[in-house]
Amino acid sequence: MANKPASGTGKSWLAASFKAGTTTTISPKHAPSALPSKAAAPRALPSATSAAMQGAAPALTRSAPLRPQEKLFAKGASMPTGVGLESSRVRERMVQRIAAQGTEHPAVLAAMGRVERHKFVDTALVNQAYEDTSLPIGLGQTISKPSVVARMLALLLERTDAPLGRVLEIGTGCGYQAAVLSHVAREVYSMERLKGLHDKARANLRGLQRPNIHLLFGDGFEGYPAGGPYAAIISAAGGEAVPQTWIDQLAVGGRLVAPTQTASGQQSLLVIDKTATGLLQHILEPVLFVPLRSGVA
Ligand code: SAH
Repeated sequence: MANKPASGTGKSWLAASFKAGTTTTISPKHAPSALPSKAAAPRALPSATSAAMQGAAPALTRSAPLRPQEKLFAKGASMPTGVGLESSRVRERMVQRIAAQGTEHPAVLAAMGRVERHKFVDTALVNQAYEDTSLPIGLGQTISKPSVVARMLALLLERTDAPLGRVLEIGTGCGYQAAVLSHVAREVYSMERLKGLHDKARANLRGLQRPNIHLLFGDGFEGYPAGGPYAAIISAAGGEAVPQTWIDQLAVGGRLVAPTQTASGQQSLLVIDKTATGLLQHILEPVLFVPLRSGVA
């Protein structure tokens, strides 16, 4: 099976899709200005790597009971104008649908209720902004479905209380998921390989006053070691395997969620927990994400 650890170090399967020689071109202009103080870099992984392969059904269990749902919308909150719909109500319905589909994490639902998705899509698509659908954002890329964003964030927060510490997002796209993440994490480092989308995200996020989002222009295969180690890593693009750099930059106790090609050739959500004794991986439900590509453009 493609995701089964090879014998020996247990690392080689992770490195299988890592493309040697790719350059990371993080423009100093876009590098975050104030990096949080760093903890010690993660040590080399223990040689024994355990892998818990799971079927399509989500098999991870919550360690803490869920709290009652937080109040999602403040009374009298100002309504966005110019979209021809009453956005807060529509968003509330979107959140209710997500909860009904099974993602009930209160902090995630609250964050989904706060971010105005219609501000991240083109004017012509505004009326579809709160439907559970992916939408084009230019350059052949798409903004992920709200239910999938919520599902992935809930997985990141499954065993931890919000807020998470530092989070690395691969694939900024239009910046929507980074905005949602910024409500459940202390610092969000979000990397995009396409300059056009990096700039678009910057424009979309301008004015939202999310100072804990750090946009990076570069090849996500390299990760961003200066911001790590990360409590969580999330990829919005699907690769053939998880690059070793991401594992290296994940803190012990941290969790990674990434769409990844499985043995059958199908793309599924892959969850990797980095523990003191090795890696634990779970393959969850099939998903459909745009491909993870190397290099910048
Ligand atoms: N989270 C985004 C979804 C964007 S789609 C949103 O909310 O809009 C996935 C993105 O991953 C695309 O923009 C694509 O260009 C980007 N991507 C693919 N491979 C990448 C890589 N190696 N490094 C950084 N970004 C990458």
